[in-house]
Order: sequence, then C-alpha cells, then structure tokens
Amino acid sequence: MTGTGEITAEVLRAMALPDPQGGSKDHRGCALVVAGSPGVPGAALLAGTAALRAGAGKLQMAVPACAATALGIAVPEALVIGLPEAGDGDIDAAAAEAALARRTERADAVLVGPGMTEGEGATALTGALLAAAPSASFVLDAACLGDLTAHAEAVRARGGRLVITPHAGEMARLLDRSREAIEADPLEAARAAAGLLGVVAVMKGARTWVVAPDGAAWRYRGGGVGLATSGSGDVLAGIIAGLLARGAGPVQAALWGVYLHGEAGQRLARACGPIGFLARELPGEVPALLRAVA
Ligand code: AMP
Ligand code: MG
Repeated sequence: MTGTGEITAEVLRAMALPDPQGGSKDHRGCALVVAGSPGVPGAALLAGTAALRAGAGKLQMAVPACAATALGIAVPEALVIGLPEAGDGDIDAAAAEAALARRTERADAVLVGPGMTEGEGATALTGALLAAAPSASFVLDAACLGDLTAHAEAVRARGGRLVITPHAGEMARLLDRSREAIEADPLEAARAAAGLLGVVAVMKGARTWVVAPDGAAWRYRGGGVGLATSGSGDVLAGIIAGLLARGAGPVQAALWGVYLHGEAGQRLARACGPIGFLARELPGEVPALLRAVA
C-alpha cells in the first residue's frame, strides 16, 4: 500500500505552483463555477471569489437564472450565466447544457456542485459538463457527488484530472455506505473512492485526507473548529478550482487548497476568535498565505 504524509508548508514548497510572473489573465486560466440553487444562491459567490483569490485569471459563474443579476452585481469581476430552472428549484439540465456550451469550451477548470439541489438535474448536468469539456480539470462537490458512480466511465476517462471534495455524508452516499462507516475509517473510504473512480479524493472533516488515484495519501490536521460553518466547503472547492485554472496538477491543487483553506481559518480564528468568522471571510486570507508559503 502506498504511504501517507502530512500536508505542511515544507511539502507544498517542494511542489511549487506555476509561476504567475509576466503572464496575462489568460495565462492564469479561466475557472467556471456552476453552483447555487434558488434557496442557496450565495454558494456561487463563495466558490467564485475563492477561485479568484487563489489566483485564477478569469471567472465565469453559472447559477439559476433567478440569482444571476444579483450575483453579477455582488461579484463584478465575473461573467455570469443564468441557467434555466425546471420549476422545482432544480436546474433544467438539457437547457442548462445548451446555455453553457460555449463557456465550457473556454474553461480551464470547472467546479460543479456547491449549493446546488441534489437530484436528477444536478446529476444530468454533471454528466453533460464532463462530456462538453474534455480538456478541462474538474472539481465536483456536494450535490454532484451522491450519484457520481452513474458517470464512472466519464470520470475515469479524465485520467485523474478530477478532484472530489465530499464530507462524510456525501462520501457515504457516493460509496453507498453508512456515514458511521465512513467516519470510522475516512482514509480507507477516500482510498476506495479514489481507486474506484480514478480521481483525487479530498475527504473532508476535522482532519482532512487527500488521496491520489494510486492511493498515496496526505493528512491535514490544522484548520480549527471555526471552519465547521455554512459555506466553508464551498470556499475550499473554489480555491482548488482556482489553483487548477492556474495550471496546478490535481494532487497539487488539492494539497495546496486544503492547506490554504485550513490556514485561512486559523488566521481568522487568531484575529476574531475560534468560532464565528464567516465563510465569506476566508477567501480574503488566501493571497497573503500564498505569498507566505511560496
Ligand atoms: P462543508 O461541510 O462542505 O461545508 O465543508 C466544511 C469544511 O470545514 C471542510 O473543509 C472541513 O474539512 C472543514 N472542517 C469542518 N469541521 C472542522 C473541524 N472541526 N476542524 C477543522 N476543519 C473542519
Ligand atoms: Mg459542502
């Protein structure tokens, strides 16, 4: 069995991110964030601003049409696409696929799932996006993960350029096991998912495991309890997508992303106390952390 290590600044320094010096915004890549639902439209804001703070050159966001204008004003740096809704809060996957067709082609990294309603719409849209963006790297989170084995072939075909970011409940649905079983051995669960789908698995929790498709594993033990707050995982997924857009490899983006997210939590905890900081405050900590680690 492949070994395990800790995620530390020293480990990350040995896998430096692509140098942004001298390049244009195109050089640092375009992140496409497909996220949100009528009830949770702000998930796209959290993930999208995190992708920009991690250094992505350009941001496109696709959200239910009812939230598109508000989101575009809240995040003026982004190009925003309104997705047709099916009427029950779910996205109309076929119409959304058509609305996204040209955008998907231009994306270097695609994040799907934060704040989306779990169901057939999310599952179908995930499959359509995987098919439409063969050269992009992907992050799949939250609503995309429960039925991901339905797209096992398309996921495996990406050759490891796909990162999944489940918490224990999402991993339980993905592997069709109980949450208790996942929590009893999260590393084994992450290895099972990474091996089954040929992906990088980020198994989130108070301790987070990053597992490569070959079973190599790294643990992060920082962060702190303040990260257990609404929207925190959306920020993590956005940071990883931003790093992928910049040209980081999938294992590299996952390791850096978990560390930056955790250390951002620790910085906020030092500044305002161990709990009570907001997920929306995490992305602003990332640029200084990138500088400090590099
Ligand atoms: P989500 O449940 O998707 O919002 O993700 C929550 C995020 O916060 C993940 O990155 C977890 O690893 C992290 N997290 C949750 N609880 C803790 C904790 N007690 N200590 C450190 N990190 C945590
Ligand atoms: Mg989440």
